[in-house]
Amino acid sequence: MQCPICKTRLQTTNSRKTNSGASTWRRRHCPNCKITLTSREVLDLSSLIQINNKNYSRLKLTAKLARISSGSLEEDIANIVDTIESRLLSLTRHNHQITEDIYTQEVLSVLKKIDRPSYLRFLAQLEED
Ligand SMILES: [Zn+2]
Repeated sequence: MQCPICKTRLQTTNSRKTNSGASTWRRRHCPNCKITLTSREVLDLSSLIQINNKNYSRLKLTAKLARISSGSLEEDIANIVDTIESRLLSLTRHNHQITEDIYTQEVLSVLKKIDRPSYLRFLAQLEED
């Protein structure tokens, strides 16, 4: 990966897998500008996970969670999405058809455990629809 400022090749100074193992976080350093950047590699699972026979969208789920969890850190939302994705992937591996209802239940179940205020807002939003 190149430095966005001077195009020098960045050096990785630290990296770790996130809790679910679905993504990798890296800290990178530019030896020329001396800046430090972080990156997050995420597997694109959109073609692997089907919801009502349509490709799953990490972007849509992230946007929805960002809307309902006002004030949550970007990294916390990404971790929630990672956890939801690994559950969806597990269902897919076991050849379960994922309907919109199952998808919603998976999202709710993860939110209930990790982020109770967002869980309640998500639930309230469902009742409005
Ligand atoms: Zn640079």
